Amino acid sequence: MPAPPRPDADALASLLAEKLGPGQVLRDADTLRRYGEDLTEVPGHPPDLVVRAHSTADVQAVVRIANEHRVPVVPVVAGLNVGGLAIPEHGGIVLDLAAMNRILEVNEADQYMIVEPGVSWADVRAKLDRDHPALRFGYSFSPPHTSVLCNCLMDGLTNLSLLHGSTGDWINGVEAVLADGSILRTGAHALSPAWCTNSPMPDLTGLFVNFQGSTGIVTRMSVQVWPNRKFRERLFVLAYDIDQAYAFVKRLMREEVCDDIGGVTWPLMKLLFGQARPLYRDPAEPLVALYFDIASNFWQAMTAKKEIFAQLLAEARAAGGRFEDPLDIRDLVRIEPRFVAFADFPTRFDFLLDHPGGGLTWIGSYGPTSQWEAGIKAGMRIMEERGFPPIVVTRPMAGGHFGVLRLITVFDKRDEAEVRRVRALNEALADLVLEKGFVPYKTPGWVVRRHAKALDPGFVRVLGAVRNALDPNRILNPGRWETGG
Ligand SMILES: Cc1cc2nc3c(=O)[nH]c(=O)nc-3n(C[C@H](O)[C@H](O)[C@H](O)COP(=O)(O)OP(=O)(O)OC[C@H]3O[C@@H](n4cnc5c(N)ncnc54)[C@H](O)[C@@H]3O)c2cc1C
Repeated sequence: MPAPPRPDADALASLLAEKLGPGQVLRDADTLRRYGEDLTEVPGHPPDLVVRAHSTADVQAVVRIANEHRVPVVPVVAGLNVGGLAIPEHGGIVLDLAAMNRILEVNEADQYMIVEPGVSWADVRAKLDRDHPALRFGYSFSPPHTSVLCNCLMDGLTNLSLLHGSTGDWINGVEAVLADGSILRTGAHALSPAWCTNSPMPDLTGLFVNFQGSTGIVTRMSVQVWPNRKFRERLFVLAYDIDQAYAFVKRLMREEVCDDIGGVTWPLMKLLFGQARPLYRDPAEPLVALYFDIASNFWQAMTAKKEIFAQLLAEARAAGGRFEDPLDIRDLVRIEPRFVAFADFPTRFDFLLDHPGGGLTWIGSYGPTSQWEAGIKAGMRIMEERGFPPIVVTRPMAGGHFGVLRLITVFDKRDEAEVRRVRALNEALADLVLEKGFVPYKTPGWVVRRHAKALDPGFVRVLGAVRNALDPNRILNPGRWETGG
């Protein structure tokens, strides 16, 4: 049967308003503009209209109408994914899920919580502090109002990712609305009332992780939480050489001493201190700031962990490494109050957004730590050669089985020439990370298309088959993971 003609925005708005009530359907020019762009250099495109959902039933109603009339639906919460992943490239409906913001359950005994899409990092922190101080969660550097559920679906990284891997691995199961409006539950909850594990079921949860909303709209998620730790310390060590710094990081990550290890290069520290672009580094200044989180419920364990840390640092120095003495974050905050951004969770990186023109983009990637040093140095070189401060953020993940290499650019979104330079820069960086064995995460559509030829043909075939099976009319966030399959 031929596809019915796509209704115009007026007709679509009437259909949706009839089902949901007129207050939930927005069409003013300012709203359409805001939902049609993000922080990045990815070209914007306005939706035909925006719908605010308040319940799973709302999501089902929207998806059913969209599917019947072959209208794209793009789910969004804060839209701060930093990859153009919620820009409605083909127009249609942007489905704003921010109002679905209930933490439906926190199960202390079985260590999970059930969240709706709009639940933010700040919501989780407040809830655990208030009602469940015995539990903790991992926090990203993302602004506190952004979505935890979206982060897990995008397989993100947090301060507990060295211990527990990327956030996609923390999901016990989801409730998702499929393209025909029906509901699917995954994980053990497909069979049992308990939401405490994704195992031992066939992993249908994976159908929603890293698919960027192109296979279904997740309306609930069970995600793991962990026992809180009574003592936590964050130490900073300034280093002057990439090879020496990352040799130390790799030695330490294998000892299970730290909850988190991260590295940020010098321009990020300058931005934190409020300096504006262009940024300069005196050759006598450190190249990279490493930070280390150590935590335990037992003071004896804290002492032992800090002794191991000190011993490994001494060994790194004895091998020729140049490192400053460790600084406790509490002392750093006393010296420079802006360090407070690094002192608590959710960590606040607002300073990356707070600059003229407000543009932020990156090529973030996961890959082999054996290639870290080469990737960092080559990435910094490319950024510097093109006149951008070489901001690099790194973190070992999942016990050091892989590492994060995130090459960040802040830019002026109002300056079209700079936006073009940023596009060219990111193309070069995307190619570089792949060459080093790293895979871009939260993968922008243009990166998928750029690297499509390098994808395994079987992967392309099965990916296409999965999407055709779940969303035969390809209404769900079209443009994401389009590989030609
Ligand atoms: C300064 C800054 C720092 C950041 N630091 C980190 C970091 O340290 N670690 C990290 O992992 N990320 C980081 N991020 C990226 C991002 O902000 C976080 O991952 C955040 O949690 C995403 O939430 P969001 O509400 O912005 O998602 P959105 O951008 O609204 O959505 C993300 C994607 O999920 C899709 N989607 C939305 N809702 C649903 C749904 N219900 N079902 C299916 N698909 C859906 C969207 O279409 C989109 O493709 C950072 C971002 C910024 C701006």
